[in-house]
Amino acid sequence: MDGCETLAVIIDDEISSKVARIIAGEDAVKIVLFLKKTGKATNDQILAETELPLNYIRKILFKLYNYSIVQCDRLRDKETRWFIFNWRFQPDQVEGFITNMKKRVLGILKVRLEYEANNDFYYCGTQECDKYTFETAMEQVFRCSVCGKPLQHHDNSNIVKLLRDRVEKIEKGSST
Ligand SMILES: [Zn+2]
Repeated sequence: MDGCETLAVIIDDEISSKVARIIAGEDAVKIVLFLKKTGKATNDQILAETELPLNYIRKILFKLYNYSIVQCDRLRDKETRWFIFNWRFQPDQVEGFITNMKKRVLGILKVRLEYEANNDFYYCGTQECDKYTFETAMEQVFRCSVCGKPLQHHDNSNIVKLLRDRVEKIEKGSST
């Protein structure tokens, strides 16, 4: 038993499935959950379990490997002398992947929040049209460049509050 197996209990099936799905799609979930259960498996064992085409399995494993979600030990078969790939699930990397994703989302949210909080917006009220910053609205003499309607000041305090809440929620979550 290694430390990974203890961590595998903490990183539950739901989180593992979510990460597998993001990286390599629905079929990756089957492979990750199988590796999570067995600890280690060869291509042939994964094939027997999932009944997916071998090339497709390799493609998925390679994607997961790129994110270090799986690790690979290469052994030589004593009889055939061919390489056998033994795949291992790496639960600690699942956690790292989630942390990185949170950081990326947080970065995007913060940029958006700053933009929303530091600008006044003007809007024609037509759903398909954009909202303009004060500078742009002024350049357009307060007329929408798409539909031609007059631009009115647009209260974005709801969006600012929503963004602030989401940033706060993520920041609280990642510190625990
Ligand atoms: Zn418009």
